[in-house]
Amino acid sequence: MENKGCCSGEDLKAEKPIKNNSDKPKGSKIFGNMDAYELFVDDAGKGVGCCCGGEHPDESTVDNPDEVKVHAGADFIRKFENYAHSIGVTGAGYTQISSELILEDKPIIYPNTIVLIMEMGEEILKTPKGPEAQKLNDQAYQKLGNMTHKLSDYLRENGFATQVAHPYGRWVNFSALGQKAGMGFIGKNGLLITPQLGPGQKISAIFTSIENLPAKEHREFSWIAEYCEKCGKCIKACPEKALIEKETCCGGKEVEFIQKLCRGCSEGCTDCMEACPFNRKGYEHVKSRFDKMNAKLMEKRKKR
Ligand code: SF4
Ligand code: SF4
Repeated sequence: MENKGCCSGEDLKAEKPIKNNSDKPKGSKIFGNMDAYELFVDDAGKGVGCCCGGEHPDESTVDNPDEVKVHAGADFIRKFENYAHSIGVTGAGYTQISSELILEDKPIIYPNTIVLIMEMGEEILKTPKGPEAQKLNDQAYQKLGNMTHKLSDYLRENGFATQVAHPYGRWVNFSALGQKAGMGFIGKNGLLITPQLGPGQKISAIFTSIENLPAKEHREFSWIAEYCEKCGKCIKACPEKALIEKETCCGGKEVEFIQKLCRGCSEGCTDCMEACPFNRKGYEHVKSRFDKMNAKLMEKRKKR
């Protein structure tokens, strides 16, 4: 079934959609380049967001407004965020989507993007991979999908046009969107790592007519890539060898993700997530260890 999104209506057809990236590299997803929001593509060169995903119907209950508003006051953004938290969303970030983050041939009407994260929940991590873990994983996607549609309806009721990217959809690169919105950074396991939830979240997005979203595209979390360089626990933990570390031509390292070997969505595998220090110890603990290690290194260098 086609994922119609929320903006397939006539109201928005005068707007010029963003063109999708039509020049995607072939091969598997490569992680480890902190300046690139690289794409994850299958053997046919078709982009996918992660190993999960599929079409999802539009579950909006409110139509896009006839008169579309494009500016939201700080008060409204605060109210929106309070409402998001009240229904179970952990955090919201704001950015503009760019063409390299659009993975499928589907027009995005507005580049203004609200990124939403929701805790995956301990139960999934504790449940051994298999049908039960997969069911819990699917339920988490559905839960955030429901919240995303509720928030989209809320925006529409207040005069803003929206288009929903359901977390189960595979037409945008959600982890990269979260990174671009300054919510965290992509780790070697290819997952967005955030201060609130480490690698344990589901991500969705709402594209909206709001042109003055409070975007904060800072790089506060780019140190995570440096930490990952020395860690690599997710690679060792993967029982399927779906994460392969390779040397680059310039002497660096990058991780190749072999989608067809991953059991994340088919069996609810979370081994790479469980092994991650950001999950085991928490963001603050890892950051403080990283800072101490760096301080010691600086000290040594000064003495030389
Ligand atoms: S540990 Fe499991 S979820 Fe992670 S990459 Fe390997 S197979 Fe996929
Ligand atoms: S396990 Fe280590 S290398 Fe993998 S994402 Fe977590 S911190 Fe990075």
